[in-house]
Amino acid sequence: MKKGIFITLILIGISYLLLINIAPDKVEKDLNGITLTKPYQISEQAKTLYDSLEFIGDLHCDALLWDRDLNKDSEYGHVDIPKMQQANIALQAFTIVTKSPKGQNFEHNEADALDNITLLGMVQGRPPGYWFSLMNRALYQSKKLKKTAKRSDGDFKIISSSKDLKGLISLRKSDPTIVGGFLGVEGAHALEGKLKNVDELFEAGVRMMGPTHFFDNELGGSAHGVSGEGLTDFGEEVIDRMNELKMIIDLAHISPAMIDDILERTTQPVLVSHTGVDAVYDSPRNLSDQHIRAIGENGGLIGIAFFPGAIGDGGIPAIVASMKHVKDLIGIEHVALGSDYDGSVVVPFDITGLPLLIDEMLAQNFTTSEIKAIMGENMKRFMLANLPEE
Ligand SMILES: [Zn+2]
Repeated sequence: MKKGIFITLILIGISYLLLINIAPDKVEKDLNGITLTKPYQISEQAKTLYDSLEFIGDLHCDALLWDRDLNKDSEYGHVDIPKMQQANIALQAFTIVTKSPKGQNFEHNEADALDNITLLGMVQGRPPGYWFSLMNRALYQSKKLKKTAKRSDGDFKIISSSKDLKGLISLRKSDPTIVGGFLGVEGAHALEGKLKNVDELFEAGVRMMGPTHFFDNELGGSAHGVSGEGLTDFGEEVIDRMNELKMIIDLAHISPAMIDDILERTTQPVLVSHTGVDAVYDSPRNLSDQHIRAIGENGGLIGIAFFPGAIGDGGIPAIVASMKHVKDLIGIEHVALGSDYDGSVVVPFDITGLPLLIDEMLAQNFTTSEIKAIMGENMKRFMLANLPEE
């Protein structure tokens, strides 16, 4: 009998090892796809203009959630360090996802639904501390980015302050193969309801945080939750602390009532790291014209996402049409890239296909200086002004 249990345990162990070595790749390949085939077809004009850009940046990617070594040029996934170098990226936001409800949708998710990230973490063979604590998941993923930087031979720098960013900009003048990234958190349920964890995340290098993700949490209502409520008392405390620390507030995924509450309360400019606009594609995850105007008045930045859930089925023309809508409504200085790369989304192209956007921007009559602004100059200005100084 004992022998039977022993053999069963061994078999479970072997199955688990097989699972963690094979399943995560397969899961990611299916979830983070591209619709166009490589090599991408890019005009000479777009290519030349792209190559002349000094600062290219993107406000959102979830590459840290997956198992890939980000120092390797992977056959799948949208972002890794070699691809960033190939695409001449100066700064990429790496956002941390800690919980995602089973059956996730844009309309209605319960906070206590089964959590996909628990299951994914187990299948990935991440440590048990990761399985049971949202805060541990955030800290684990922030360490993953630090390890990536350490093992990159100086190719990849983590940016935590405006001083770091100035340093990166000057380094890139002599060596443009050096690329940068900064840490964000998608959904402040990672705080596990504790205000002191804002400081702990800040210590761990987190410089941007979105109050909610797909479900309501201690801070208030998600755009895809149940309550639709604005900021709770705890939410107000978190916003105040983020302002004090200069941790950037990301309005993606929060309820319309919470957008109003935060714009009323914050003393700092905010951003929306990955979104679409209702005028192009009406969805609970997208911004109304009223909110676009309010974010403009706040001096905020709006990153346009690349996937159908944000821009509809119109592909690259719809991405650029969404950018154009924000430009027409509040001015070019508020528009940025917010791909949502590696966020369980299928997009037209990975990060090396960004020049394709320029072809479409030219077709939609964007000027060279407007293209520069969207591709990264706006993000550079915003980050220099809103990251902590040191
Ligand atoms: Zn998201």
